[in-house]
Amino acid sequence: MDSSQSKRPRLEIKKGSKVNWSNKLADKVQSLKPSGIREFFDIVASRPDYISLGVGEPDFVSPNPIINRATDALKDGYTHYTGNQGMLELREEISKYLKSEYSLCYDPNNEIIITVGVSQGIDLALRSVTNPDDEIMYFTPSYVSYEPMIQLSGGKPVNLKTRAEDNFVPRLADMQEKHSPSLKSLLINYPSNPTGGSFAENDLKQISKFCIDNNLLVISDEIYAELSYDTKHIPLATVNGMKERTLLLGGFSKSFAMTGWRIAYACGPADWIQSILKIHQYSMLCAPTLSQLAALEALEKCTNQKDEMKRSYKKRRDYIVERFNQIGLECKLPSGAFYAFPSIQATGLKSMEFAKRLIAEENVAVVPGTTFGEVGEGFIRCSYATSLSEITEALNRIERFVQKLL
Ligand code: PLP
Repeated sequence: MDSSQSKRPRLEIKKGSKVNWSNKLADKVQSLKPSGIREFFDIVASRPDYISLGVGEPDFVSPNPIINRATDALKDGYTHYTGNQGMLELREEISKYLKSEYSLCYDPNNEIIITVGVSQGIDLALRSVTNPDDEIMYFTPSYVSYEPMIQLSGGKPVNLKTRAEDNFVPRLADMQEKHSPSLKSLLINYPSNPTGGSFAENDLKQISKFCIDNNLLVISDEIYAELSYDTKHIPLATVNGMKERTLLLGGFSKSFAMTGWRIAYACGPADWIQSILKIHQYSMLCAPTLSQLAALEALEKCTNQKDEMKRSYKKRRDYIVERFNQIGLECKLPSGAFYAFPSIQATGLKSMEFAKRLIAEENVAVVPGTTFGEVGEGFIRCSYATSLSEITEALNRIERFVQKLL
């Protein structure tokens, strides 16, 4: 008997049967706003030969010793998982580094965890402390991922808008005004993406006062700490009374040009790190083994290369800022990261219009300030993590563009 003669009911597969995704996808994912930058970068992607001041990653390739360590390790068979918390040798080296650089002491056994980029650190930090409807405050203009990550953790984002006239440093009075009993934590970043500004000791004291008075936790994204050009970076955890309530996030992506390796670390109170570890061990198991070895090499042997890249960024920063000011676009000297945040108000254009016309008329990509929050209106973000010759050509073109407008 062939199958066509079988009496068994046959499974009917309806032709054209479709999944209605609108009632299948998680509400919190559906309610995420599309990134304001997408439309703009679709335009950019269609342009051949444009110069980009848009990208937030080093133009340098990772230093050679880092690459060699990873390739050797691969040949030696390092193709397995590590412990969930990350290799102890790497945690020990991070602990040593933070102690010698900032006199900050973290126990590598239970106060440090290796993460898949600072991105995963932010996600784990938020998920480990956020109950439904807990409020998390962040300052805008801010890194684009903060608001959506807070929403994905189930928390409610509280956007504290800083002011250009204050160099985008938050005012204590504004923080106090936004405070509510549901406020659980702050998610902060300095040196800042997108402004390049940082917090001085006094700014950190104000933030600390607000946190201590209101018994808040802080997730402190200090990924650009090593790229502080004029004054030494001050970790929030070094301020009196803050180490016990702060999670310090540091990484290798920016300072060692290791974005693709996806490797970073979180340090904080043992209770917090151990809860983070619980999520990490189920959701990620461990950070990539080769990247952990590469990070170890970076800390042990690549200080010179790190300093050399930093010197190069500083040179580019000084050049780009001087050119913007000469052109008539006021630009404060950013103290860290690799972004300039010039005002384009003199041109009378809105940020998005400025960026769209600049790519259309001069083939230069910059990021509209509004991508980082409403308060970014009137500004553009220009990354100087690109060669000096490209920066020079981009600025020549921006000058020509602005001269038509002024
Ligand atoms: N935090 C800030 C402020 C950033 O600018 C970036 C990347 O641009 C990240 C975190 C992500 O870092 P990672 O590559 O370590 O995930």
